[in-house]
Amino acid sequence: MEIVKSSGPISGEEIASRLNVSRAALRPCLAILTMSGLLEARPRVGYTYAGKDAKNLFADYLRRFTVGEVKAVPAVVREETSAYDAIVTLFVEDVGTLFVVDEEGYLQGVVSRKDLLKTAIGGSDLLRVPVTVIMTRMPHIVTADPDLDVVTAAKKIVDYQIDALPVIREAEPGKFKILGKVTKTTLARLLAELSS
Ligand code: ADP
Repeated sequence: MEIVKSSGPISGEEIASRLNVSRAALRPCLAILTMSGLLEARPRVGYTYAGKDAKNLFADYLRRFTVGEVKAVPAVVREETSAYDAIVTLFVEDVGTLFVVDEEGYLQGVVSRKDLLKTAIGGSDLLRVPVTVIMTRMPHIVTADPDLDVVTAAKKIVDYQIDALPVIREAEPGKFKILGKVTKTTLARLLAELSS
């Protein structure tokens, strides 16, 4: 890598002679470095440094996964659901975020753990407060299209300081069906799977 960085474009023969190894011995190494995108091999020109470091390569690799491929099943409640029932749903479905839909199934809001805790410690009657009073509503919901890459999804989660993105499809102008969710857990699972 150092030789190609400083002297590229350079032939395989020349690299081999500088390293004092045979061209045949070097061939598998050059093949791996070329396939992994660290070097570029140009016929009759030689090897050049592709300018990508390991961090870039990892990001490129991760970017091939889309939100649509890794999405999980979302927990969904209707607008008339009470704060009390929303809390029960958090436990039953073992989730931290609920998505609120209208009677036609279109996304209207997001309710998080802390939204519900705030209502609970505020002393409201949880049985009477509907989730619509508590939720973050459209158009303020940060969403993801199915073809969004997971790196951009992770950045959205970090930038907006949220736990989950609904994966959506625009069924009619301004009306969104929810196809799934991408959460911190979804992304952690992907990293664990890729590393095992
Ligand atoms: P927690 O409340 O458990 O920290 P979040 O960090 O996800 O969970 O939520 C923080 C705030 O952001 C809450 O008020 C919630 O309603 C809102 N929120 C959660 N997800 C989204 C989203 N995808 N788009 C916009 N707002 C969201």
